[in-house]
Amino acid sequence: MTQEAHVTQGPLTTEAGAPVADNQNSETAGVGGPVLVQDQLLLEKLAHFNRERIPERVVHARGAGAYGTFTVTRDVSQWTRAKFLSEVGKETETFLRFSTVAGNLGAADAVRDPRGWALKFYTEEGNYDLVGNNTPVFFIKDAIKFPDFIHTQKRDPYTGSQEADNVWDFWGLSPESTHQVTWLFGDRGIPASYRHMNGYGSHTFQWNNEAGEVFWVKYHFKTDQGIKNLTQDEANRLAGEDPDSHQRDLREAIERGDFPSWTVQVQIMPAADAANYRFNPFDLTKVWPHEDYPPIEIGKLELNRNPENIFAEVEQSVFSPAHFVPGIGPSPDKMLQGRLFAYGDAHRYRVGINADHLPVNRPHATEARTHSRDGFLYDGRHKGAKNYEPNSFGGPHQTDRPLWVGSAVTGATGDHAAPSHAEDSDFVQAGTLYRLMSEGERGRLVENLAGFIAKVSRDDIAERAIDNFRQADGDFGKRLEAAVQALRG
Ligand code: NDP
Repeated sequence: MTQEAHVTQGPLTTEAGAPVADNQNSETAGVGGPVLVQDQLLLEKLAHFNRERIPERVVHARGAGAYGTFTVTRDVSQWTRAKFLSEVGKETETFLRFSTVAGNLGAADAVRDPRGWALKFYTEEGNYDLVGNNTPVFFIKDAIKFPDFIHTQKRDPYTGSQEADNVWDFWGLSPESTHQVTWLFGDRGIPASYRHMNGYGSHTFQWNNEAGEVFWVKYHFKTDQGIKNLTQDEANRLAGEDPDSHQRDLREAIERGDFPSWTVQVQIMPAADAANYRFNPFDLTKVWPHEDYPPIEIGKLELNRNPENIFAEVEQSVFSPAHFVPGIGPSPDKMLQGRLFAYGDAHRYRVGINADHLPVNRPHATEARTHSRDGFLYDGRHKGAKNYEPNSFGGPHQTDRPLWVGSAVTGATGDHAAPSHAEDSDFVQAGTLYRLMSEGERGRLVENLAGFIAKVSRDDIAERAIDNFRQADGDFGKRLEAAVQALRG
């Protein structure tokens, strides 16, 4: 669909539908006199304009989205009873919102930043939201650190700018960030477009089958367009010349029928493996090596329809990692647990208590049947139906079957770190990633990191940051130290 299809017929009206006689001149007391309060069209236009913006997302403010189709290509019923995954060939409508993380709503697309990957499956058992990133890992592993982390990425309260001191102070003092930071400053840290990058569910999730058996799962969406990235210099130029480059690329590709697609893979871990796996399988700063749990191809995701209105369908789209369907549930990943609360809470603040009922957000393949009512912009969809349960008048009732299977827990409550495993390390996988890169990419990685670390004002902060990379790989640390010294003199 292109914009030409959206022409409105008939005369211009007020919000109340009355015809407008003059949309060019406000009403005045005589020719050249002051404007009259009775010019309701003028007042209505100015008042509405003042209220056009809703709070922008604190993170992932800048984004673009499209609808698509997910198609199952492999029988996965041995691992999950989710109906939308139940048979080969089954199709489910989706909406995918891509984003950058740190920039404000009007920021440029071509920047070094993780990309959000928020995918909604409109399944017949309700909407399933998989809210991941274009990287399989993250900077931290406990949501209690998230507000502090984001404060270091956004604007400093005194200078009003992002500050290298804050960024590197936090990363240096949070060695668990080393893997994700190595990724971010490598070639994949600036994708050429949203179409040329992979997506990941990032967290570990639970799948459970009809028999009630539990499996832990990680999702991978591998781009069929091939990985394509921008160098720092290319990105700097493009961000200035075409700030909307990623958004434009996605819309134009779909308009010309060049539908982007991703091959969907999962890694499956039987529940019994988790306790004694060599590292904590619920740690968001780590991947599961493919040799331990090989990726299994299960489907295809294609984007094939542009939104018709960016504000209604992209800005007001909401996703929550807590939106599960039968057969899928959370893991004890502490970042995921925090996000289960934070996303719904953000939407209630940003879009309102009825956000889930907007056309882009509501279930498309079933209906929401709740006893919640009213609130701002409630549309009366329940008409006169009873608004409580139990009741003697019919209406929706509970199923008595939980979506996911509960886990056994032991011990006292407390501010516990996650359970330790034999090979837990904040550095090993960062080192593996460094050694997996080509020599050319390693050079660019070191150059990108050094350029940023060199801006730090204090030696101790710079040294601590470099030391994390030294622990990941000796050669990595040595080269980085030399490059930073060369720049700092
Ligand atoms: P494998 O060799 O089995 O897998 C390597 C993975 O790394 C592939 O999925 C590949 O994705 C991806 N990759 C290749 N080059 C780069 C790059 N320059 N930057 C980022 N990712 C790249 O090894 P392991 O499973 O043992 O993982 C080794 C390292 O690879 C990890 O420490 C992690 O940093 C990274 N990685 C691992 C993933 C996993 O789920 N195990 C997923 C993605 C990255 P592609 O096929 O698209 O090129």
